Amino acid sequence: MAEEVFQNETIKEILSHYRKIWALGHAQSVLGWDMEVNMPKEGIMERSVAQGELSVLSQSFMLEPKFVELIERAGGEELNEYESGVVRVLNRSLKIARAFPPEFVREMSEVSSRATAAWTEAKAKNDYSLFEPWLDKNIELARKAADYLGYEEYPYDALLDLFEEGLTTRDVDKIFEKLEKELKPLLDKILNEGKVPKEHPLEKEKYDQKAMEKVNLEILKLFGYPLGQRARLDVSAHPFTTEFGIRDVRITTRYEGFDFRRSILSTVHEFGHALYELQQDERFMFSPIAGGVSLGIHESQSRFWENIIGRSMEFAELIYPILKENLPFIREYTPEDIYWYFNLVRPDFIRTEADVVTYNLHILLRYKLERMMINEGVGAKDLPEFWNDEMENLLGIRPKTYQEGILQDIHWSHGTIGYFPTYTIGTLLSTQIASYMEKVINIGEKVRNGEFDEIKGWLREKVHRWGSIYPPKELLKRSFGEGINPDYFIRWVKDRYL
Ligand code: MG
Repeated sequence: MAEEVFQNETIKEILSHYRKIWALGHAQSVLGWDMEVNMPKEGIMERSVAQGELSVLSQSFMLEPKFVELIERAGGEELNEYESGVVRVLNRSLKIARAFPPEFVREMSEVSSRATAAWTEAKAKNDYSLFEPWLDKNIELARKAADYLGYEEYPYDALLDLFEEGLTTRDVDKIFEKLEKELKPLLDKILNEGKVPKEHPLEKEKYDQKAMEKVNLEILKLFGYPLGQRARLDVSAHPFTTEFGIRDVRITTRYEGFDFRRSILSTVHEFGHALYELQQDERFMFSPIAGGVSLGIHESQSRFWENIIGRSMEFAELIYPILKENLPFIREYTPEDIYWYFNLVRPDFIRTEADVVTYNLHILLRYKLERMMINEGVGAKDLPEFWNDEMENLLGIRPKTYQEGILQDIHWSHGTIGYFPTYTIGTLLSTQIASYMEKVINIGEKVRNGEFDEIKGWLREKVHRWGSIYPPKELLKRSFGEGINPDYFIRWVKDRYL
């Protein structure tokens, strides 16, 4: 049997207290999953109150003086790296829990639910005015949150850090400056050279949902996803992954009824998130170091599976028989058709449908707007115009409706501001990770043969098994010897598309 990782008596006491915080988190995840997958529409009001109250309860457990005292005491003791990880993660949670007064936590949670309901209606009706006051409310709360949390340079730093520990406006500026400079001309070149198709007849092919479900399940089976044992696949409007624990991880997908790559690639994407949680060290169970360390690292895992595996020629070959068996129209296409269909490049309005090249420009646009909201005091009223101008600047197209412009994403309705940059960080890291992996594993060959064990094992060793012991920047340094570097992504785009 593997050695116990937690030996220190103070840490053991901390973990026994932490179990009830963990249990609340577990319950909140179940409620959140149910809300997206099963809950009838009008359940939202009661659910959001319940969620808000549980957040407050969790915060009060976190701040119990005995618990705080134990964490402080442990900080002065000699600890192994796992135990130090526990103290680091709890100190961070403590800092956040202490920063926000309980009524503020309750307010954020309730406003978030109601703003989401308003956004849903506003989007359906293409009526920004329904959402505008709620967006202002969320911006105000985010600025307040930044003040409560504290920051050195910009208020936005405090928000970035909530989603990606240690990330600053300065870091993100540096990444995006490089991307904007390199990607815009690269995109022009790709579009003008004409090697990469802009559209494909497969986008219009309609499929039967039952058949498509079978395709997704077969692909997950190839990956070794432990369906029914430790994992599920369900349907929701916005695909996501949630973990109730190491042995109960759930992903969702969606079925639009046409353009089947959306359903496949989002299933493959969420599988990458799920694998990170499923491959945690089981000795961390019930402790604060179980689970992915940050959103950016998490997204690197999902993008690795989506872009590196899912959009490869070898993957198109691998799944071709599955597609042919379940989707009758596939007979008229070759694996190479599937490959290009998965790799189209076309400037378009909707981020979630964006190709790999334009995707980061969509994120850059949101980043610029978030910086305005938080660092420069711009209000909701002026944002649609900024959105459209920036879209034109980056992608050369201008939205005609709010639905294809500022109302498209759910994030700002949840009050999550500072989250978007983690998508780009994940995308960049996925190509970095692929490049390191390629030195020891022939990824294409493995995919062609449907052998995923070595790839999964490598990811476990380099990323998954460390849970949240180290902050993201340190994890990268330890496992790969360098931090986020956009050069890998630029090179990857050139290799693939030029
Ligand atoms: Mg994701």
